[in-house]
Amino acid sequence: MYTPSLLSLDEFPVGCLVTDARRRVLYSNQYMMEQYGHSPAALAGRELFDLFSKASQILCESFIVPALAREGQCEEIRLTMRSPSGQSLPVMVSAVHDDACQRCFWSIANAQRSEQLYMELKKTQQLLEQKVALLRSLSHADPLTGLPNRAALSKHLDHKIDRARPGSAGFALALIDLDGFKAINDRHGHETGDKALQQAARRLADTLRQQDLVARFGGDEFVVVLDGRFSRALDEPIWNRLTQRLAAPLLIDGVSLSLSASIGITFYPQSNTLEPDQLIRQADQAMYQAKLAGKGQVCVFDSDDEVVQKERHAALSGLDEALVAEQFRLFYQPRVNMRTGEVLGAEALIRWLHPEQGLLGPQAFLPVLSNTPSGIRLGRWVIMTALLQMQTWREQGLNLSVSINIDGYHLQHPQFLQELGTMLADVPEVPKANIELEVLETSAIEDAAQAAMIINACRALGLKVSLDDFGTGYSSLSQLRDLPVDTLKIDRSFVQNMLTRPGDLAILKGVIGFAGAFECGVIAEGVETLQHSQKLVALGCEAGQGYYIARPMPADEFPGWVERWTRSEFDQKYGTQAHGTQDN
Ligand code: C2E
Ligand code: CA
Ligand code: CA
Repeated sequence: MYTPSLLSLDEFPVGCLVTDARRRVLYSNQYMMEQYGHSPAALAGRELFDLFSKASQILCESFIVPALAREGQCEEIRLTMRSPSGQSLPVMVSAVHDDACQRCFWSIANAQRSEQLYMELKKTQQLLEQKVALLRSLSHADPLTGLPNRAALSKHLDHKIDRARPGSAGFALALIDLDGFKAINDRHGHETGDKALQQAARRLADTLRQQDLVARFGGDEFVVVLDGRFSRALDEPIWNRLTQRLAAPLLIDGVSLSLSASIGITFYPQSNTLEPDQLIRQADQAMYQAKLAGKGQVCVFDSDDEVVQKERHAALSGLDEALVAEQFRLFYQPRVNMRTGEVLGAEALIRWLHPEQGLLGPQAFLPVLSNTPSGIRLGRWVIMTALLQMQTWREQGLNLSVSINIDGYHLQHPQFLQELGTMLADVPEVPKANIELEVLETSAIEDAAQAAMIINACRALGLKVSLDDFGTGYSSLSQLRDLPVDTLKIDRSFVQNMLTRPGDLAILKGVIGFAGAFECGVIAEGVETLQHSQKLVALGCEAGQGYYIARPMPADEFPGWVERWTRSEFDQKYGTQAHGTQDN
């Protein structure tokens, strides 16, 4: 029979710790030693949070400590523990605080397995998504080889590039052109030529992994898309495998034919945003170089290429012209209090009213502007236009807060403060406190001290400052103690996944706790459904912005929207829960 009294905490398959009110370790079990290398003797008297990584320490202070104070317990927070040898270990931490004895009881479970499981699940999900995308595009199969055709390839690339966020997995794109195919056609006839193409297609497909894509691009050209990060080195085994497989003689109707292939390669992501067409053009250029070098060669596209520089230059002057021709517009997206319905303000979002291509979003043109004089010019235009809009609305009786996106490189421009001062002087009636600058977190902390200085100066002018996309530069959280801001804006990727991914929910909770600890406001972006709104409000984040509330709209539609929202739309979308409290 099982006798509980004989069971000691040392036998528990989880780390057990007891700390005093100041979180100094009073007891630790054997598991802490076996799994994480922290012996009871070494732990005795140590401050518990010292065992965690810097980012985790901030989560401890901003989330666990307040939760323990508030609820007496805190469950399953994902942290990173450091072993004495400096190794990072994912752990799941829970704690209960006993008020009577002023002790805290901690369990620290090894999260390596759940981490692995999570990664596997994520991978499976990605594969599935790719397969679905592929299946969708298979309706465009090439009749000769059965491979996806050009249209399908372009869809596949659209999908991959669209889903790719900074830091996400990349891919290599190779354009493969058969050498000497025309000679086969001429000498042996089209039927043999077709069979050669079919065999080459099969060889390509056999050489690749399941998740890779091979498409027939046309004629004797194929494109393969390989997931993963590759070095630019030509001795990557995969390129050798491809050239070798294609160089082996083909046996068609008893005749042995020799074939080879020239391959041009390019990689994604690159420093600029790219359209699928551009990637293919790059691979094509590299393939051309490979052909020049002889048969069966591989070349990697060189982005310092003259042609690319030319294209970049052309893009920039096109944008300069667009600015002069007044083709840019600011759209405005409302931000509201999701509990009371109160309209808190709007975010100004730039659009390009392109004479041929229609309305273009910022991703289509901002990346090439990064860190350029043209980018600074456009940044100035954005600030001035938003300020003038605020003034116009004010004259119409609409006193709105407007937040303006500021790129890190613009903020750190030597003339930034001076120019901002001049622009503010042009709109003296606009209350400074209604102007909010949204700074991208990552760029802002590149040089935290300088950014902090500029941000402080903006606040001294009476402006508000928020950090955009907060949470994406998570590793650098610890530096943020030095950044004095009014609001943290939670990145929409966390918001969108918070209902389905516990990891994202934990980060979201962390950011909300963090904002509490640093006494700044918090706003969620990317609120797409009522469920997102409700969950956010329950977690203590009442300010929101997103498609569920409203899409970005032209400035002249905004007053009408405010009217409709306050009259009926908030009630319709959020039910009667907060009726009549709009003015709180
Ligand atoms: P951001 O600052 O994170 O802006 C929010 C983006 O999320 C906007 O995209 C907005 O349309 C979109 N969005 C809002 N609600 C939802 C939602 O519920 N679901 C989804 N999926 N998306 C939502 P947009 O307008 O395409 O802007 C993209 C980015 O371009 C902005 O991201 C910002 O970083 C940059 N940007 C936009 N306007 C300016 C500008 O005037 N100056 C600078 N420097 N950057 C700008
Ligand atoms: Ca923003
Ligand atoms: Ca954002």
